[in-house]
Amino acid sequence: MSERTTPPGGPTGPTSPVADFVAGLPKAELHVHHVGSASMRIVGELAERHPGTVPSEPEALRAFYEFRDFAHFIEVYLAVVGLIRTPEDVRLLTYEVARDLAAQNVRYAELTCTPFTSTQQGIAIEGYTEAIEDARVAAERDLGVVLRWIYDIPGESGVPAADATLRYALDHGPEALVGFGLGGPEQGVPREWFVPHFEQARAAGLHSVPHAGETTGPDTVWDALRLLGAERIGHGTSSVHDPALLAHLAERAIPLEVCPTSNIATRAVASLEEHPLPRFVEAGVVITINSDDPPMFDTSLNREYEVAAELLDLDELGLAHLAQAAVASSFAPDDVKRRLHDEITAYAAG
Ligand SMILES: [Zn+2]
Repeated sequence: MSERTTPPGGPTGPTSPVADFVAGLPKAELHVHHVGSASMRIVGELAERHPGTVPSEPEALRAFYEFRDFAHFIEVYLAVVGLIRTPEDVRLLTYEVARDLAAQNVRYAELTCTPFTSTQQGIAIEGYTEAIEDARVAAERDLGVVLRWIYDIPGESGVPAADATLRYALDHGPEALVGFGLGGPEQGVPREWFVPHFEQARAAGLHSVPHAGETTGPDTVWDALRLLGAERIGHGTSSVHDPALLAHLAERAIPLEVCPTSNIATRAVASLEEHPLPRFVEAGVVITINSDDPPMFDTSLNREYEVAAELLDLDELGLAHLAQAAVASSFAPDDVKRRLHDEITAYAAG
């Protein structure tokens, strides 16, 4: 199964051997946002419940969802946020996101949730927690996808959002909460602000998984490591400009959660040809492949694996190794890790 399945730089499409292999490959997704995963289908359902802002009729919805640029992404994202008004909306979103993941053979996912956004919408944290947990249990039972949560501080809302998110994690923490994160803008949002929050979250047993080095330089990645105790880095794209940082990440085996299409869509990287992914691998850094906000960037985890195959010139065994790296880098329970590891190995062996 290690023969090349596509010529270097060759086409990968919905019917290519690489796409077929990836589609069937059992996978773990470690960097994907809850609201950012709302597909057109899900948004259509929510829009039907809450008519007025987003079209629910398929053709108009398709036009609304057509990715144009980053400003349009923010517009769509905020419109979707505005459709999630009740715990039942949160439950529907979560369960349907799990369905979309399961359809791609994602067997385990750490979903980055931003409860602060929902409580700002008037949803009580108790209702929020119950809704995601209820959806998680149902998704594992019905769809065979295991979900875990990362609670994310929306950096743009500053310390008050961090205080609230920490309270949600410590006082109302759902059973499946495994990590504590930080997203939003990096510029003008010093990581120092969040040191006490990450200290307390880590003391409570949560893993530190901040975004860093997506829209700023390698210094932010160093800050994430030194100030926030990062165990994985969301994106970390600009690490490529600092050889000492790459060496440090490699030596400590701190994985980067790489989301290639997102990086192009947000202009973190100018083009796929210039994406630093191959240089991370050359430097010995552990990398995982992820999708970030897939429908909003017109991608999917499967598509990101295809992109990685092209950037790294991977054969089927190489793709299976990528999937194994995500499992190993995850905070999944040991039995889930073992099961998924065996499933990937069996699949790659044909
Ligand atoms: Zn992200």
